[in-house]
Amino acid sequence: MLRARLRAFRHFSEWLLLAGILIAVGGALWWGRYHEHEAVKGREQQRLVAQVKLLDANLYRQLDALRRALGSIRSSIPQWQEEGKLRERAASRLTAFAQTMVGVRGLAIIDKQGIIVASSNPSVVGRDVSARPYFTRGARDDRGELLYVNSPVKNSQNLWLLTLSRKVVDTQGQFAGLVIASLDREEFQILLASSRYSADMTVTLAHGDRVNFMTLPESPHAAPGSQISVGAITRLTASQPFALAEEEREDTTRLVAAYRVQPAGLNMDKPLLLELSRSMAGMYAEWKATTAAWVAGYLVLVLFSVLGLLVVHGRRRELKAIALRNERTLREKNRALEAANQLLEAQRTQLQSMAFMDGLTGIANRRHFDEALSREWQHCRRKQLPLSLLVLDLDHFKQLNDHYGHQAGDTCLQQVAQVLQLELFRAHDLAARYGGEEFVCLLPECELEEARLKAEQIRMAIEACAIPNATANAAGILTASIGVACRIPQPTDNAEALISHADTALYRAKAAGRNCVATAAPFVGKLTP
Ligand code: GH3
Ligand code: MG
Ligand code: MG
Repeated sequence: MLRARLRAFRHFSEWLLLAGILIAVGGALWWGRYHEHEAVKGREQQRLVAQVKLLDANLYRQLDALRRALGSIRSSIPQWQEEGKLRERAASRLTAFAQTMVGVRGLAIIDKQGIIVASSNPSVVGRDVSARPYFTRGARDDRGELLYVNSPVKNSQNLWLLTLSRKVVDTQGQFAGLVIASLDREEFQILLASSRYSADMTVTLAHGDRVNFMTLPESPHAAPGSQISVGAITRLTASQPFALAEEEREDTTRLVAAYRVQPAGLNMDKPLLLELSRSMAGMYAEWKATTAAWVAGYLVLVLFSVLGLLVVHGRRRELKAIALRNERTLREKNRALEAANQLLEAQRTQLQSMAFMDGLTGIANRRHFDEALSREWQHCRRKQLPLSLLVLDLDHFKQLNDHYGHQAGDTCLQQVAQVLQLELFRAHDLAARYGGEEFVCLLPECELEEARLKAEQIRMAIEACAIPNATANAAGILTASIGVACRIPQPTDNAEALISHADTALYRAKAAGRNCVATAAPFVGKLTP
């Protein structure tokens, strides 16, 4: 019971330990993934900002190059006018610029009435553009030297262009026209595309009036010329030119970085607006895949550790059962062995007792008597105590056999043996069958007279049995003659002499007419047979 409880407690504590370890590992995993999630966002914000800065720097270089080119053309106008060859000289110069400057589709000079007087594209010379917003704005403006960034326009070939212009003034400082450059979307496309480092990124370049010029990848929601009405890009101001935000766009959440491009050195009248965004889903795709792999790994770990512990517990139960079975078998074998030992011991004891027992009468046999005599002789010699011996012979036993049969004779011998046993009740007294119809009684620490009295009692007890022996005597009963001898053993004596003396006394009893007790004369000096 206690063992079962201990085992249950051990199993429970192992489960508890495993659960603890799994929770700890799971917790560490969660903690790691959570921090990685935050780190992904931080890294992404930094990358977006870096890309915005890169675009800003590129745009600055391009706008500055154009501003310088427009300035250079403008400064040449008076000379060309003086030479009276404005159209020809300008045309070749403008064409050369348009060809060499990356992204510039065309360059033109417009006079103060709004007529194109020179252009890198000869087909537009003479065209009246006085109604175009970029002209009217330049014509009316008196804020001095500026680089005009005009709202995107579609040209005659349905291409969207961004135009930049600088005002031309006459010697009195009055408005004398514009030098204008139109920029191709293609060049911006290369620039903007280079900033897209992942497929889910969008990048937008817009005019400061929130008019879209280009969005990559192209989308019907962000067509060139469309007005931008939502998002961080719409909230940019001169004092707050940068914004980072998370925005909902067409069912996805996007991380958006917006920047207002209006470098101080360029004197732009309107800024350009940049916006880079990444879908949060795309941003976290790798994180999600890694996390899914970790979670899968973790679940496998949980599964295997749970199965492992179940197997270990099962195996332990099996081993326990085997051990119990072995123990039971061993106990059973031990019991069987014990029983066999007991049987053997009993048989041995029986055999031993049989070796010292007379088979017919059940009292001690001659061998037993011999040993007892030797032992008691030694004892009485050491203690100097008397040792008495009675030798008993049944009278006319042959006649009893002859008259009643040998079987009846045996029964008589058994009866006599019982009488002897009943009469000898002291612990060290011994009655034994000496052979045939002769018996001996060994009485240690017993004086001659006491022994004689004991012999007399025995004789009378046999007589009292009145065992029939019809032809033996007048009474017709079985009687016995007994010879008695006694001796305090001396170092020079031997036990056989005691028997011999008792035997001599027996002969005397026989000779005296049987059914009597005769004592041997007390020993004097050396006792010899
Ligand atoms: P007594 O001693 O009086 O002189 O006469 P007895 O007839 O007893 O003398 P003896 O010693 O010659 O005879 C002994 C007889 O005892 C001989 C034998 O038949 C008998 N006897 C000896 N051993 C046994 C025994 O084991 N069983 C039976 N039934 N008789 C035995
Ligand atoms: Mg005899
Ligand atoms: Mg006899």
